[in-house]
This record gives sequence, C-alpha cells and structure tokens, in this order.
Amino acid sequence: MAIRVRFAPSPTGDLHIGGVRTALFNYLYAKKEKGTFVLRIEDTDEARSTESSTQIIINAMKWLKLGWDEGPGNELSQYAPYYQMKRKEQGIYQKYIDILLEKGYAYKCYCTPEEVEKMREQARLAKQPPKYNGHCANLTKEQREQYEKEGRTAVIRFKMPKEGKIEFEDIVRGHVSFENALLDDFVLMKANGVPTYNFACVIDDYLMEMSHVIRGDDHISNTPRQIHVYKALGWEPPTFAHLSMILGSDGARLSKRHGHTSVLEYRKEGYLQDALINYLALLGWSTQDSQQLFFGNSLIENFSLDRCNSSPATFDPSKLLWMNGEYIRNKSDQEIFDLFLDWISWTKQDDLIKGWDRALLKKAISLEHEKIKLLKDIPGLVDFFFKELSFDQTAVDKILLSDTKKDSAKQVLQECIIRLPNQDFGSPEALEMFARNLAQELGVSNSKVFHPIRVAISGRTQGPSLFHMMEVMGKDEVLKRIQQTADKYFKN
Ligand code: GLU
Repeated sequence: MAIRVRFAPSPTGDLHIGGVRTALFNYLYAKKEKGTFVLRIEDTDEARSTESSTQIIINAMKWLKLGWDEGPGNELSQYAPYYQMKRKEQGIYQKYIDILLEKGYAYKCYCTPEEVEKMREQARLAKQPPKYNGHCANLTKEQREQYEKEGRTAVIRFKMPKEGKIEFEDIVRGHVSFENALLDDFVLMKANGVPTYNFACVIDDYLMEMSHVIRGDDHISNTPRQIHVYKALGWEPPTFAHLSMILGSDGARLSKRHGHTSVLEYRKEGYLQDALINYLALLGWSTQDSQQLFFGNSLIENFSLDRCNSSPATFDPSKLLWMNGEYIRNKSDQEIFDLFLDWISWTKQDDLIKGWDRALLKKAISLEHEKIKLLKDIPGLVDFFFKELSFDQTAVDKILLSDTKKDSAKQVLQECIIRLPNQDFGSPEALEMFARNLAQELGVSNSKVFHPIRVAISGRTQGPSLFHMMEVMGKDEVLKRIQQTADKYFKN
C-alpha cells in the first residue's frame, strides 16, 4: 500500500513547536518510506482562521525545509484542493452529510446553543458526562417542520451508539479502547454548512487516501469519534499514530510560560533550521543507541515510527542551545557567513551591520566560529572590528592601569608603535613571534605583552585569538588603535 501522510494545521496562529514536531514526523516517515507528504489547511474554524496564519505556517514549513509533495502551491493532483474551505465550496462535505442523514447515522438538531448548554449543565449537576442529550435524535417529520417554521436552523449531529466500545491499534500507544457511552452526538456540520474538524478530517483523510494519521496525542479522544464516521460510511480507517505529549521542564504541557513556543521565535533568536529539526526529532523518538546528532540526511535514514515513545517528552531549551552550537560548528565558515546574512535580512536588522566591510566580516566571523551558539551572538562578538574603539572599563583598570601592570603596559604599547610598522602581518605565527620576542627583550611575561595589546586593539579582555585578530584587522588599523589607546591612557 502506498504510504500517504499529512500535516493538517488549523491556521489560527503561529506554527508551534508541537505542530512542527507533528509535521516533521509525518515528513520523515514519508521520506523514509518513499511515500507522499501532504499539507492540508484545516481552515474551517471561521472565527479563528486567518490567511496570514496560513502564510506564517507555509513560510515556516519552507524555512524548516519540510517540503510537501501535495498541498498549497501544488494543487494539481486528483486530491486537490488542499484547503478545507475550498473543499466545502465544492460540496464535498455536504455529499457525505446527505449519505449519513439518509442512512440514519446523522440527524438534524434544532437546539440552540443556549439549550445545549443547559443540557450540559444538567448533566454536570447529575454527575454525568456533560453531553448533548440527544433531544433531536428522533424527531418526527412534524416536529422538524415545526422547528423550521419557528425559524430555527439545524446543525447536523452524528448518532453515536449508546453502548459498546470502539477499539483501535495505535502505532505509538498500542491498544486503545473507548466506551461509546462517553462519546456524545457530536456536531458534523454547523448550520451554515461548514463542517467541524472531526468530520472534515475523516472525509479528507479518506478521499486523500491517507495510509497513516500521525498527530499529537491531544487528538486521541477525537479518534474514536472519527472511527465511528469511517464505519458509518463503510470505510476502512487509516492506521493511527498519536505522538507523545511535549512537556515543559516543570512537567506541565509545553506552553508560553516555558519560553518561546512559536518556531518563528526560534528563527529570530538565530537557531538554525537543521538544528531545530534535529532537536524536535528527539522529542518522542530515539534510536536504539540514543544517537543525538543527525547531520545531513541521517534523520530520514534512521527514522521509524516503531521507535516513537508513548511517554511524554520534555522540552529542554538548554539542550537545544547546545545542539545549535554543534550545528554551527559543523558548518563551514562560508556557510555560517551566508546563514548570518540571510538571518540579518530576514530579521530586518541590516542596519546592525551597515557599512561593515563584507570581506572583513567574513574573516571576523570565522575567527569566532567555534564560539557561536546562536546567529544573534555574532554582531556582539565581532562588532569591535567595525566600530570606533570603545573600552570595557574593567579591562582597562585591570590590564592597562593597575599599579602592577601600568608601567609595562605603557612600555609595550610604545614599543609596538615603534616596531609594528616594520612587522610582517602576513600570518598569526609571525605576529606571535613578534610578541614573544618583545616580552623576552623587555624581560616581562608573555601575558604582560599579549593582554595590553588585546585591550588596546579591541577594548576587551575576551575575544578571538590575539594574533589571528591582529592579522585580520591589518597593520594600519592595529597601529591606529594602539596609538589611540596610548594617547588616551598613557599621554605623559
Ligand atoms: N487541524 C488539526 C490540528 O491542527 C489537525 C489534527 C489532525 O491531524 O487530525 O490540530
């Protein structure tokens, strides 16, 4: 059987971590099994669905490189369209409502929302599950006509069996069983003809020939309702896989109070697409040997639904940060430079690096490559190459002006001003040799030479390797800065 899976987001906001994880597992499964990955937009919640949210989801999926074989922008297949509201316009859902009504699996319900709420309240008071009480399930023709005469509109409800149970085998959860008595006569279609999620989802999963439905386990209580609809229509349900919950560090379901939940926030912070994907793949899935890093295509090669875990996964931001650093280190200097420029322009922060020489920027970034954890760290790590020299006061006090160091610091800078004009700046080794020789001649420790030069040219005590930094900065700039520093702190 052909493997066909889908990601079916409701465009009611940003794309969240949990949603991406669902999309990713579907994507990985499709790629691994040489199947088809479908993106379907479930936009039937008219009050909350927006076009801009659809765009956010599509753009985020593209950034994450979770490309779909069928879906928005690729509507040519026999299964199109991929927006549920477009499918509604084509009468797709109405057709099956008519069949269910005719076969007696569904009925028109004329109760108002207030009346339904009252029923629920009564059930609650009687310590029963708060469900619709089936009031309209067996109306006579006359009763229906009477309601219609009153101007009432009808929703379509599913006629749920009152006894028995529904059972299915879930790839992740194993055997699952629900008592029918706990399920209510849920609404299939609203009075305005818009289908509800539980109905539209079944019709589309069937018509789009989904082999598997892989989704978050927050949907597991919807699955028995959906299986009832499949059965009523005489259809075979797909195979289900309900992915484990994602929890925050405190054990509560992941939410805003645990930090960022929207994938765009992570992009803004400077997480890399592949690092985020690698991290999310490990939320509820692992290999036998608990491999952590999956560079290149190895996620697809290793993925299997059988190794998805039913126990909740914990979202650990510090592990994600670590992983991002690993991915950054695994890339070439050129790749990081390109990713940084893309990120700067995507975050509309071009001003941050305005006027910065690109060749120098690339070299500066490569000096700091090992240290970068997030793309957003980069400007702060390299800006001293491009900005007017500005001093960290502690660095100045400690390295240039402390009682024990100021004389040698002054002398080192003065000697640099005299000697560096004739110094070869062609390699870090040559510059290191220069500094070591100077220390020897002056009879001071190496650090008494290295540290003042560092503070004099960068204003700080931390930074890239000193001699690489001098090489990249170039002779003129290094000399200019040392002169400036000497003028400022050692004028007389
Ligand atoms: N539109 C549903 C959601 O966003 C899809 C659930 C499903 O995959 O069936 O949660």
